[in-house]
Amino acid sequence: MEYADKLKLLGAAARYDVSAPSTVLAQEAIPDGSGAIYEALAADGSSMHVLKVLLSNACSYDCLFCPLRCSRSQERASFRPDELARLAAELKQAGLIEGFMLSSGIVGDTDSTVDRMIETATILRHQHGFRGHIHLKLMPGVSEPAIMSAAQIADRLSLNMEVPTPELVSTVCPAKSLPRHLMKPLRQAVGLIAPGQVPDGVTTQFVVGAAGETDRQLVDITWHLLAQVGLRRVHFSAFTPIEDTPFADREATPLAREHRLYQVELLLRAYGFEPGEIVFDEDDMLPIETDPKLASAEARADLFPIEVNAAERWELLRVPGIGPTCVESIVFAREQVRLTSLKQLGMLGVRVDRARNFLALGGRFYPRRDPDSQLTMQI
Ligand code: SF4
Repeated sequence: MEYADKLKLLGAAARYDVSAPSTVLAQEAIPDGSGAIYEALAADGSSMHVLKVLLSNACSYDCLFCPLRCSRSQERASFRPDELARLAAELKQAGLIEGFMLSSGIVGDTDSTVDRMIETATILRHQHGFRGHIHLKLMPGVSEPAIMSAAQIADRLSLNMEVPTPELVSTVCPAKSLPRHLMKPLRQAVGLIAPGQVPDGVTTQFVVGAAGETDRQLVDITWHLLAQVGLRRVHFSAFTPIEDTPFADREATPLAREHRLYQVELLLRAYGFEPGEIVFDEDDMLPIETDPKLASAEARADLFPIEVNAAERWELLRVPGIGPTCVESIVFAREQVRLTSLKQLGMLGVRVDRARNFLALGGRFYPRRDPDSQLTMQI
């Protein structure tokens, strides 16, 4: 197969590996001609162009939803590590990419697949002097030595969990065990990273809606992974049915569901929320039409309204329209002066239209009847 055709095939196949929420940045390749350069979010929130590609689209596993599953008939191809490293170096030199995200189907055994991915990244870093961001996907059941080698070269490591419970993993990915092949290596990856290694941490990803899981199951495991395992982020990818797979006739998951899960992930990761504070409907799903933070606040009549001049940081963080940076501005400002007006809060960055129903200033309450519940990532 021609070099460019291989890049197109293996770049297109990598679009299911998330580099940014698809409700923030599209997961389609940018129209540069190669079919493998995507927009991703950098750690500081800015976007960068990333060569997102598979080392191989062959896989010996047979996960039911996956386009790479071994029993699906399709054209297969693989890069040699030196070949892909040279290609990435050329794209960087041409100013087309700032980062490199490498995943793969499992060819042979897990560790030899991960070893080839590490070899690719090592050639790129050390022979071609690549200083850009490198994100390596680990494979289910990867060993400790392979994780340690990957940690020496990558800025970010990740391993896709795909579905949230042991039972669903066994159903959808029959060869995988959640505790043995997914949770254990994720724990090991977090624990094995030496100071200064893998600056962007360890992450994972779920395919939302593939296995009939509930949002409550996804939220519970997300909290466990963030708060107890120590992952840096949890990503979600709305399920899309792939032809010639057992799930071909299932409905695609609406992006709005993925979006609500990302909002809850932010509340758990950056706002200190716990799963018990999140509101679900009778089917254990997040209400699609309501912002999760607003739904949580409306369910907490015991907490609100809070007095802004006296509230603890954690209480301020639960007010819709107030984020972590804003909390610090409020705490600093109220050490200088007593806060008495919505205008003052607006100047400190509070989204007053969202916040006013849930706070008091100097004992005065300023409610409005129709709190905003629009779809937005701004909380
Ligand atoms: S192991 Fe990964 S690449 Fe292979 S079939 Fe399963 S989900 Fe797809």
